[in-house]
Amino acid sequence: RVKEKWATTRPKHPPTSLALQHFDATYSVQLGQIWPSVRVALLSERKYGALINNFSSDSALGNLQVQGCRDFISDTDTEAQSCSQPESEVDFSDVSVKNSDVDGQQRCPLQLSSNIKCVVFPRGDITRFKPARPDRYGLLGYYLMDAASVLPSLALDVQEGHNVLDLCAAPGGKTLTLLQTQAIRFLCLNDSSVSRTLRLRKVLHSYIPKEHLTDENMRITSFDGTKWGDIERNTFDRVLVDVPCTTDRHSLLEDDNNIFSKGRTAERRRLPQLQLELLLAGIEAACPGGEIMYSTCTLSQIQNQSVVEQAIYLAQENRGIRLEVVNLRHLTHKFKKTFHFAPDLHLGEMVVPHLAANFGPIYMCKLKRLT
Ligand code: SAM
Repeated sequence: RVKEKWATTRPKHPPTSLALQHFDATYSVQLGQIWPSVRVALLSERKYGALINNFSSDSALGNLQVQGCRDFISDTDTEAQSCSQPESEVDFSDVSVKNSDVDGQQRCPLQLSSNIKCVVFPRGDITRFKPARPDRYGLLGYYLMDAASVLPSLALDVQEGHNVLDLCAAPGGKTLTLLQTQAIRFLCLNDSSVSRTLRLRKVLHSYIPKEHLTDENMRITSFDGTKWGDIERNTFDRVLVDVPCTTDRHSLLEDDNNIFSKGRTAERRRLPQLQLELLLAGIEAACPGGEIMYSTCTLSQIQNQSVVEQAIYLAQENRGIRLEVVNLRHLTHKFKKTFHFAPDLHLGEMVVPHLAANFGPIYMCKLKRLT
């Protein structure tokens, strides 16, 4: 028997165990009776989706369909696509927010870009994707990511000619999803980490033709996103704020670079404040009438709903910006065959891991600037 090399140096309480203790304590209360099944899924192998790269000349979609995959975005449960959603009011911290679409009027579900395609193996099928291969121009045919990570970019609802900001963009899965729409006039990509911004550039060069990566189309920066307001305000039609978080899955499965390690306790405790500052910066960067998507990959209410609630309150109090929460409930109906969504969240929507559909966690909440 080979002795495990790290046996003597392994910490008594590895970060993954600390993460599990923390989640057991908080999520058993927050999620109640669904926590045991979410827990078992989180501790099991995750499922991927393949985002189809429209810029590649390979017919990746056809090849993957032959293997039994389906594009979950176009292949939906049509009976679930109803336009008649009741409007509801969400009340918190003295702020009344209409949980409805434009100006409180009901409208049909978002016009989701038909250019975004993401294929998955059927429910319960945990076949792994093969790595994508380069086409004759060196571009890869698909990008492997948690299929639920496609939802924030999809629901951001980018329209032709929009100026878009991706405030925390690296390594670039959601950026690639936004680019598939082929509708963006100008895209600002930012990530405070220089090394991760380099990774983002590599990803872009592996998927997007050079002629789309020019200074006329795109700007890539490594600023502290919380300071974005000092640079640009009231500018963008769409803003994605995909913040750093406790990355619940990673924290449970990998001791390396784990935010539950003892040395990162202060950083972890500061996350909600950083998330709030990033979201407020994203709100300021959007133009009046513009829309902001806040997203995380944690189940934590403190990093999700609480951050959004505080941002709505502070945007109004300190900056005079009124916001409306955009109802995404129709999206959860549309994709209920593919994902498990948390039931009855009072603010935003969340994909919760499930053994038969082991995607997520992904939380998303969309805001519209009224002023
Ligand atoms: N959107 C990315 C994607 O889909 O591939 C993932 C983003 S990841 C969840 C969060 C990112 O926020 C990290 O890359 C991290 O470097 C970046 N970040 C952390 N603090 C930041 C800050 N103050 N300003 C901008 N980016 C920050």
